[in-house]
Amino acid sequence: MPSTHSIAAEPAAKPSRKVGQDQVATLRFWGVRGSTPTVDKATLRYGGNTPCVEMTTPGGSRIILDCGTGLRMLGRHLEAAQEDEKHEPHIFVTHYHWDHIQGIPFFSPLYAEQNRFHFYSFRSEYLGAGSLKRVFEAQMAHPYFPVDLSAMSAKREFTEVSGGDQICVPGARVTARWLHHPQGCLGFRFETPAGIIVYATDNEPGDPKLDKSLRDLAEGADIFINDAQFTPEQLATTRKGWGHSSWVEGVKIAKEVGVKNLVLFHHDPDTTDKTVDSLLHDARDKFENVWAAAEGMMMTLGGNDVDVVLPTTREGQRREAHFRARVTGLTDAGRTFEEETVISDLTLHGALIYLDHSPKLQSELEVLLDNPGIDGSSNSPLRLRGYVVRIEAHDEKDRTAVGIVFTE
Ligand SMILES: [Zn+2]
Ligand SMILES: [Zn+2]
Repeated sequence: MPSTHSIAAEPAAKPSRKVGQDQVATLRFWGVRGSTPTVDKATLRYGGNTPCVEMTTPGGSRIILDCGTGLRMLGRHLEAAQEDEKHEPHIFVTHYHWDHIQGIPFFSPLYAEQNRFHFYSFRSEYLGAGSLKRVFEAQMAHPYFPVDLSAMSAKREFTEVSGGDQICVPGARVTARWLHHPQGCLGFRFETPAGIIVYATDNEPGDPKLDKSLRDLAEGADIFINDAQFTPEQLATTRKGWGHSSWVEGVKIAKEVGVKNLVLFHHDPDTTDKTVDSLLHDARDKFENVWAAAEGMMMTLGGNDVDVVLPTTREGQRREAHFRARVTGLTDAGRTFEEETVISDLTLHGALIYLDHSPKLQSELEVLLDNPGIDGSSNSPLRLRGYVVRIEAHDEKDRTAVGIVFTE
């Protein structure tokens, strides 16, 4: 199995790679939440925008997966890159539930004449021919939206695809397959010179024919993005029939068809960051290379390798401090470690810690801080938990610089 490791970068930075940019495919997650956007504090770390994933193929053409609210931020990003740049992305819409289309009217590049968009989706029995075009018209009809479709001056082309179809876009051969979801949903497999990426969200296991279809789609994928909305318990009981899946099914498929990296996607709006942490932890017990999709997360595929980078916003004022600390966690290889260090960079939200060990990205560290009293007398140590968002290879002393965000 090819190695998987994580490297560090500030949010705007491109991952540094040994292979050239023309040999890699990248993924950037702009929306990872299912069903409805969330803005409550308990879901901020993984993010509250609904599905939107940006892919670049080797050679640099841009593919967009779904048009949830994450699309708005992608639009701002594209505009900021270069004002007069002409954008011509290929946009694959899995289905017409709100969470996958509600970003469309707020995608600013659609209002710029020089841009051209190629949309792909299926003919819905409820919408008829030109289904996605009708979605555009309906979303911007009065009285639901202040301006009508004529305000969107970019060129738009719509291609109907169906389960079993294969099409080619620059840098990728795309296969579509039906998934098991109310009113229908397509999963997409992108075969690129850098490797295979499969996007299969909004799917409930239990239909033998469509279960097989999903396995065919995911076969040998380097990156398999899969619906993990519910806990295994919810899926078996109260949420049966809602059209979604859990990490257990994702891991099962990954093992059966030789997936190399599994990404848990479409987090439930009522699932807090702490719950995603624990689902990820459980999934990693059964399959090593699992990641929980997070807003801003980037994955780079190429050279038989996958790099994962998380956004690391350092909130709050940094404090010069010198706390002795005992840190325990899991290494990249899944072994438990414990070591003593001194923490010198601390905010109310997180810390930068130098370690001899290299923990796994998105794993939890326990930090026991020596807590000297004001008069110098020693109080009981302070126990903190942190989620690893950043890993740098080493500092001048050959240690790993680890950025964590406190989780309690
Ligand atoms: Zn959805
Ligand atoms: Zn859906």
